Amino acid sequence: MSKRYCPTDGTELTARQMAGETVDQCDVCSGIFFDDKELERTMELVSLFENVSLDEEDIPSVPCAEIKRAVSCPADGSAMQPTELGGTIVDVCPTCGGYWLDGGELTALRLVQANIEENLNLYMRLGS
Ligand SMILES: [Zn+2]
Ligand SMILES: [Zn+2]
Repeated sequence: MSKRYCPTDGTELTARQMAGETVDQCDVCSGIFFDDKELERTMELVSLFENVSLDEEDIPSVPCAEIKRAVSCPADGSAMQPTELGGTIVDVCPTCGGYWLDGGELTALRLVQANIEENLNLYMRLGS
């Protein structure tokens, strides 16, 4: 695998194990690059969550109003597109489908995922 660099500060990304997946993380800003496949499980959970209408006022999220500058994909240099994911704005690469998350964005997304996993049994009882 070729080296990948942080689109925010140019630091070489470090491969890390996170929730059983390998991700590339920046040691300086804590930003994380996910290949499409790596975030698939989280994406599935988030879309499951979004398809269930529950009165959940406690879902933690970061404000969406944050203005972001365009970032380049660490894998192929494409301009990434800001996309809302579970109430968090992440950058998605139109070329390889990878995701770039700032440190705070990842934390918010993982909190959403943890909340979903905690409530998964409830969701299953509700049926689909
Ligand atoms: Zn960085
Ligand atoms: Zn890409």
